[in-house]
Amino acid sequence: MSSNSLKRLEGKVALITGGASGIGESTAKLFVQHGAKVVIADIQDDLGTSICEQLGGHETISYVHCDVTSDSDVRDAVDLAVSKYGKLDIMFNNAGVGRLETSILDSSNESFKRVMDINVYGGFLGAKHAARVMIPAKKGCILFTASVLSVMGGFSEHAYVASKHAVVGLAKNLCVEMGRYGIRVNCISPSAVATPLLTEGTGIEKEALESLVLEAGVLKGEVLEAEDVAAAALYLASDEAKYLSGVNLMVDGGFSITNPSLSLAVKSRLS
Ligand code: NAD
Repeated sequence: MSSNSLKRLEGKVALITGGASGIGESTAKLFVQHGAKVVIADIQDDLGTSICEQLGGHETISYVHCDVTSDSDVRDAVDLAVSKYGKLDIMFNNAGVGRLETSILDSSNESFKRVMDINVYGGFLGAKHAARVMIPAKKGCILFTASVLSVMGGFSEHAYVASKHAVVGLAKNLCVEMGRYGIRVNCISPSAVATPLLTEGTGIEKEALESLVLEAGVLKGEVLEAEDVAAAALYLASDEAKYLSGVNLMVDGGFSITNPSLSLAVKSRLS
């Protein structure tokens, strides 16, 4: 295999929201490694800029301050990708926020709206502005980071679970409309990854969190890392996935297909 054929995104241009940290950061690095030009769109300017410096600077990767809840910020980020690198092939709507499970009685109205704003409206704006430049090109790939909580309840606050279910609905509907323009739309749904979203949200250190995740996981022997989610994004963004659209790809080691509560209750009764 030539070294070029190992570059699965050669010639492609990607915009990654929430690209300054966690899953987005790992995806930006992997995409660059695979030959893509990347624009990181985030609100953490220092982190975003330093990732770009590490990865070789403006020829390959750029940072833009972009609050995904601002229509003009998202419009400008898409336009930057096109003016700087000539086009937009991959729009990765990945920015997201969420907190631990909270009773509905303690959930503030403002916080519910904020989570929906960032996780759902932000993705809507990303898709809308990406579609504006992808439709004339008659090709493109729109990805969303949903979550295992797009198909399950519990573990997180109501707003987060509602938002991730909504992201999948949005992606399905976009898949139908965008298909006629040759644009694929898919979701990636990780279980738990020890990124700042989880470590800061729980106050548990990365290593301790990973060992908890390992213990709770269905698939033993491996811990889900941001790089694994990036690898799923790489596949869905590449031409290898040319006929995949409307998929919610679970990256969860089988976590979402089982409910261990009954067997745990039986085991504890028997022990
Ligand atoms: P992270 O906190 O490391 O990264 C999230 C990024 O989004 C940050 O860089 C943050 O600055 C950015 N962001 C937040 N609000 C923004 C806004 N208004 N505009 C632009 N950027 C904004 O967390 P992560 O785990 O990498 O999260 C990435 C995505 O993965 C999120 O959508 C999250 O819901 C999803 N996810 C995470 C997990 C997990 O366990 N970590 C599991 C399932 C899904």
